[in-house]
Amino acid sequence: MPGPGGHGGPFGRYMTEEEKANQPKVTPALLKRIFSWLVPYLPQLILALGCIVLSSACSLMPSLLTGRIIDEGLIGRNMHALVFYIALSFGVTLGANLIGVAESYLNNWIAQHITFDMRNQMFRHLQQMSQRFFTTSNQGDIITRMTSDIDGVKSVITSTFSSILSNSITLILALVAMYRKNWILATIGVLVIPLFVLPTRKAGKTRWSLTREAQEANDEINGILNETMSVSGQLLVKLFCREEYEYSRYEAANRRMISLNIRESMAGRWFRVVMSTFSNIGPMLLYLVGGILIIKKGSSLSVGDITVLVALLGKMYMPVNSLLNIQVDWMRAMALFTRIFEYFDMPVEIRNASNAAVPGKSTGRVEFFHVSFSYDPEREILHNISFKLDAGRSIAIVGPSGSGKSTIINLIPRLYDADRGIVMFDGVDVKRLDLGYLRKNVGVVSQETYLFNGTIRDNLLYAAPDATEEEMLEACRKANILDFVEAQEKGLDTMVGNRGLKLSGGEKQRISIARVLLKDPALLIFDEATSALDSISEKKIQDAIDPLIASRTSILIAHRLSTILAADEIIVVKDGRIVEQGQHKDLVAAGGVYTELYNTQFAIKAEEETT
Ligand code: ATP
Repeated sequence: MPGPGGHGGPFGRYMTEEEKANQPKVTPALLKRIFSWLVPYLPQLILALGCIVLSSACSLMPSLLTGRIIDEGLIGRNMHALVFYIALSFGVTLGANLIGVAESYLNNWIAQHITFDMRNQMFRHLQQMSQRFFTTSNQGDIITRMTSDIDGVKSVITSTFSSILSNSITLILALVAMYRKNWILATIGVLVIPLFVLPTRKAGKTRWSLTREAQEANDEINGILNETMSVSGQLLVKLFCREEYEYSRYEAANRRMISLNIRESMAGRWFRVVMSTFSNIGPMLLYLVGGILIIKKGSSLSVGDITVLVALLGKMYMPVNSLLNIQVDWMRAMALFTRIFEYFDMPVEIRNASNAAVPGKSTGRVEFFHVSFSYDPEREILHNISFKLDAGRSIAIVGPSGSGKSTIINLIPRLYDADRGIVMFDGVDVKRLDLGYLRKNVGVVSQETYLFNGTIRDNLLYAAPDATEEEMLEACRKANILDFVEAQEKGLDTMVGNRGLKLSGGEKQRISIARVLLKDPALLIFDEATSALDSISEKKIQDAIDPLIASRTSILIAHRLSTILAADEIIVVKDGRIVEQGQHKDLVAAGGVYTELYNTQFAIKAEEETT
């Protein structure tokens, strides 16, 4: 089971306050849905159930046979009976264990297959979720759901479900056997059980809360390690001289955990003292009362019968304790399934239209008709945006930071859908276009270049898995990165490092341009990095994109004059509105937002470039 109360054994499991407050509603629909995951494995499930019943029954047999061994074998001095019952007891124990092996194999097999199905289905589902989901959800939550929550399902199946069944069967069989032997001793046995179980639960509770605290301390330690031991975290620590501060934070958390761990171990020690004392009381009482019945009352009970009763009593502690804890396990299991199903039920915001259009050869033509958009309902980011980009032409979008430039281009490959208005690609509303077709024909080089840890080749092949060596080198040449690649000892097989950190910003950008070129999209969108690159890097990127813009339909989010001048037309965006549109010289002369941007940013950058 997940969560701090997950440890089982005699300590028991307890719900946190939060869990108590958020207990899931166990409805027939929920149970039916859980069961639907089990349905494909029904034959294996029935077999597993059979094994559980059989092994529970077999595990009680040796206790019953002990009576025969004592009465018929030892007291009756019958060698034949002695050997027979010992052999039978041995055989039954072996049988119970062998069935137990088959049972755990089946349990594990079923659990693994169900979690396999769940993980795959969840991964597929999450892949369909929109950018909105990934930008708003906590990444840790997504990973927890995919890993620990689904792993939790595994233990629900292998332990919770099977433990309910096997413990109930053992308990019922043991009770029946005890009452058949002698009702007085059986009742004493039943009354003694709470004496043992209740202190166990008390000790368990103390220990459980300590474990929880220790786990919180451990989470804190992990948090500090995550923050400070990452590349960017360390950079921050070093540059702000926070080494001592971080050390003292770490030391304090570490110290807290040590003291909690010591207290936790000692709570366990006291518990064992209590347990061994109480577990002795039950058998002694049975011997005492049994003795009185035989000696004083002339009962027909045999020594073997009393031994059987004591042995059966011993077999009852564990199932009683487990079943008392099962309610917590059950609730947690239901909460787990509810959480997982909530994820499955999250609506897919951007999905392929039924009868989606695939227009054939794409030209990359884009049109926006009165488009408005907001990330959050309270704040509209784009207001009534309309513009047109004909095939083969290029547009530069300029505007102050945060004005909505990246948001405009996000709407073209449907990373988000417009709230109002229509975005058209190749003359068709993007919502009606086949998503695969759309995204294949729109290539984006974003501001934040994402290269994954691997070689340059791996990163290029991500765009076109079938690309040949020549095609890759040609793309590198067009992206103006070929010189760099060839200068590397390993060429295309050079490792780029974690997120491409072994490369400079400019190199990363050019590799990502090469990657997009391999995809060969009809529309190329280039979101120019705002972070300053050195002028040589900028020149190299500029030299790479100039011919690309000339040869295909393109949109450039531009921060530098040279990029702006390379485009056929300029759109000026401010506060989510298109405020000006036209050619550079007309816009400079107009004395509006563009003129201001030109005077404050572009002209300065252009000057820097020339010097
Ligand atoms: P820059 O030139 O700095 O890249 P931009 O013009 O491209 O800026 P956008 O990234 O489009 O601006 O952002 C426009 C507005 O939308 C900003 O105010 C930003 O805070 C907001 N915004 C951007 N992305 C999100 C998001 N995922 N969720 C909520 N708000 C967002």
